[in-house]
Order: sequence, then structure tokens, then C-alpha cells
Amino acid sequence: MPAKKLPSTTRPAKKAAASKTASKKVAPKKDEAGLPLSVVIRRRIQAQKARFHANDNIAAFIQPGELDGLVDEVAEKMQAVLESLVIDTQSDHNTKNTSRRIAKMFVQEVFNGRYVEQPILTKFPNVSRLNELMIVGPITIRSACSHHLCPIMGRIWIGVLPSKESALIGLSKYSRLTEWVMCRPQIQEEAVVELADMLERKIKPIGVAIVMDADHFCMQWRGVKDRDSKMVNSVMRGAFLKDSNLRREFLSLLEKR
Ligand SMILES: [Zn+2]
Repeated sequence: MPAKKLPSTTRPAKKAAASKTASKKVAPKKDEAGLPLSVVIRRRIQAQKARFHANDNIAAFIQPGELDGLVDEVAEKMQAVLESLVIDTQSDHNTKNTSRRIAKMFVQEVFNGRYVEQPILTKFPNVSRLNELMIVGPITIRSACSHHLCPIMGRIWIGVLPSKESALIGLSKYSRLTEWVMCRPQIQEEAVVELADMLERKIKPIGVAIVMDADHFCMQWRGVKDRDSKMVNSVMRGAFLKDSNLRREFLSLLEKR
């Protein structure tokens, strides 16, 4: 008689229960209808016909305290991924809390720019009526590609030519805003465009220029495994587009760094 296969649910049940108390796992929050929190949030977004691509910010649809619930839900699903990868998270102490660590990393750290409001940018009037080229950078970039969720690490330079009427923002705010945009899965070409749009709306300058230079780990860690491949791209707006001398001045200042 062939050995009877135990239903998979009965085998790890005891162990799972034990580890549940040990790691103080919280059951993901569900609403009255028993819907996962992600579905509740998704429905709010769809009701407003808003977009929720990987590089979109959805903070307006998330209520206070819900991010913890999202961490719980992602942890539960990440645990299922580890199980499907046939990793023994019960006895391998290194992977015991990996699902929760990844969930926290995604929601609270590396993709946090999707879930939190835009940083407050205190604007101040251009009192000395500056209209000289201003360059901020290099600002360190930490992002991830939306194709593989592999890291993108690099640097960015922002050039601004303010008008006498421009509202200026403090230097540190360029870094804060850049970080907020980059902490989302995306592709580099779209990230720089989004940042340029945002700066144009905020500062209303005569011109904005952005250059981003980054290592894409999905080219280095996997795929072609080319360690030296980098991607450089730029966006030129307004005066930077029309005035080749200004563009040259900006690019020549970057080369000196
Ligand atoms: Zn990729």
C-alpha cells in the first residue's frame, strides 16, 4: 500500500502556530466584508478613476494607520512566495522573518514614495531676483526598476534657471523631492520627466535641466551581467532647450564634478 500523503495543511500546522506566537505575526487587516486592505485601497482609487502604476503616488487614498496593515498583507504574501521558492523558512533561521523584513522594506523604505504625501516644500520669493544658473547635485539616487524590482543606484544633477518671479525652494528640498520620486519602482526615463514636471510646477523657472547617471542592477546582477553598464539620460526644459549656450554651461559644470 503506498504511503498515504498527508494533506499539506495538517503537517506544518503545529509548527506554524508555534512560530506565529514566537514572531508575533499579526493577521492582515480586512474590512467588514473580509476584503484585504489592498483591495479596499484599490477600490477607492478606481472610484476616483485615478492611476496606480508602480511609479504613482497613492497617498491620497490611504488612511492613517493603514500602512501597517499593508505591511502585514505584503508579509503574508511574501511568505507564500518564499514557500513557492521551496525555502524552509521554519528551520532556516536566516529566512524565518524574511517575509516581514521584505514587506517593511518595500512599504516603509524603498517604495515609500508611493505611500506617503509629498514632502512639504517651503517656498520663498526670489527677493534678490536671482536669474543665474543654479546647479544642485550630485544627489544620490536609490530606486528600483519596475520590470524586476532590481535596485537602480546613481546620481542626479538638477539645473534651474529661475525667473525674477520664481518661488525658490531650499537646497535640501531638492534632495527630499528627488528621494520621494525615486522611492518607487520605475524606469529611469520616466523618473527624470516626473521630477522635471514637479520642479516646473513648483518653481515656475525659465528653465529646468536634469541629468541622471545610474547603475541598473537588472543589467549587472542578472540578464547581460554587464558590470559596467550605466544609463545616463537628461531632460531639458524651457531655456535649456532653446539656449545651447546655457545647456553647454550646465553640462560643462557637471563634467568638473
Ligand atoms: Zn529591470
